[in-house]
Amino acid sequence: MKLKIYTQNDIKNKKVILRAVLDVKYKEENGELVPRDDTRLRAIIPTVEDLLQQGAKKVILMSYLGRPGGECKKEYSMDGVAKRLSALMDRQVIKLDDCIGDTVRKQIEEADDGAVLLLENIRFHPGEKSTDGLDEEYARALAANGDVFVNDAFGQSHRPVASIIGVMKYLPSYAGPNLVREVNAITEVINNPKHPCLAIIGGAKISTKLGVISTLVKKCDNVALGGALANTILLAKGVQVGTSLIEQDMVATAKELPLTDTHLHIPVDVVVAEEADEDAPTRICAVGSVKENEKILDIGPDTVKLYEGIISEAKTIIWNGPMGMFEIDSFAKGTDDITRLLAGAKADTVVGGGETVASIKRLNLEGKMTFVSMGGGAMLDLLEKGTLPGIEPLKE
Ligand code: ADP
Ligand code: MG
Repeated sequence: MKLKIYTQNDIKNKKVILRAVLDVKYKEENGELVPRDDTRLRAIIPTVEDLLQQGAKKVILMSYLGRPGGECKKEYSMDGVAKRLSALMDRQVIKLDDCIGDTVRKQIEEADDGAVLLLENIRFHPGEKSTDGLDEEYARALAANGDVFVNDAFGQSHRPVASIIGVMKYLPSYAGPNLVREVNAITEVINNPKHPCLAIIGGAKISTKLGVISTLVKKCDNVALGGALANTILLAKGVQVGTSLIEQDMVATAKELPLTDTHLHIPVDVVVAEEADEDAPTRICAVGSVKENEKILDIGPDTVKLYEGIISEAKTIIWNGPMGMFEIDSFAKGTDDITRLLAGAKADTVVGGGETVASIKRLNLEGKMTFVSMGGGAMLDLLEKGTLPGIEPLKE
């Protein structure tokens, strides 16, 4: 897929609105809210610098943070982001008190050439997340802040929101370098994989991942499942899963997967406990011997062995979704084993998903993966559908 990339001509002397993913979680430090993790902030800096170097008059950063629900809530202000970005970039990032309106436009006009500005949380207005279609008025108000739009927010490009597809209707729009890198890596791995190609899918909800699993079953040589979503698959196969996390209303749909296909792998043994609790006694058992009062909380060692064999033969591996409730040590082994196997694999490894990346970072192994996507839902949607609402208008 070829995306429209900006050139010097497109941005020189222009006020560039840069849509970024600056959605961090805050913690309190000396009475101030500061980002817990600034990976996302660091990721946008090269784009800002590049725009300025290529002659952009002003760069206006735009993102949402958290879920303020369309209202102005102090704990979701972009203040802490602006402060950290200023420190990381060693230049002042001017935080504005709103993201639309005359005052905001005036402040942008009055800022010096070469200024970097950050709009206040775009979810402080209900128009960003409008439930009944795109809020055109909000999109126009956001677009009025600049002359040119650059979308570098891969991780938020799977939703048809005002701040992405809306703004694109009103301004000349281009793909940013992070977006291009993500789209290239993910479309390449799904359209042009080196075979055998393996997809490992785990995590919490089958309802959010069934679509992508169906696509992967067609495109990959092997698909291996784990995590809570495998529980619903086991149930669909008629296996007793006790009090495990399942989605009852997805059982019928799960049955539409080729459950007897030998290339679709599901756990053969599991780690169970009566409670999802760090002190709860655990046991390993074959699937089929889970008791009525037990929960499946991780994949077992035989499943890891089985998956190890497939991993060692694969030339391309796509991974999203932890194999178990890795946040609790007693249920982290399956996820940790898979992480280590991928880190040591000869295959190209493309991984993504909020919790998946967090689980890899815990072991400090993200550098051993070929590509770590910054998008979870966006990565899955791109794998499934081959495009996203936020990149479609940017196609060359
Ligand atoms: P990602 O963010 O990587 O896409 P998900 O959001 O789909 O992943 O799922 C991650 C969550 O799934 C983790 O918080 C983990 O605790 C949970 N999970 C995985 N396996 C199980 C299980 N067997 N039972 C309950 N929760 C599970
Ligand atoms: Mg998640």
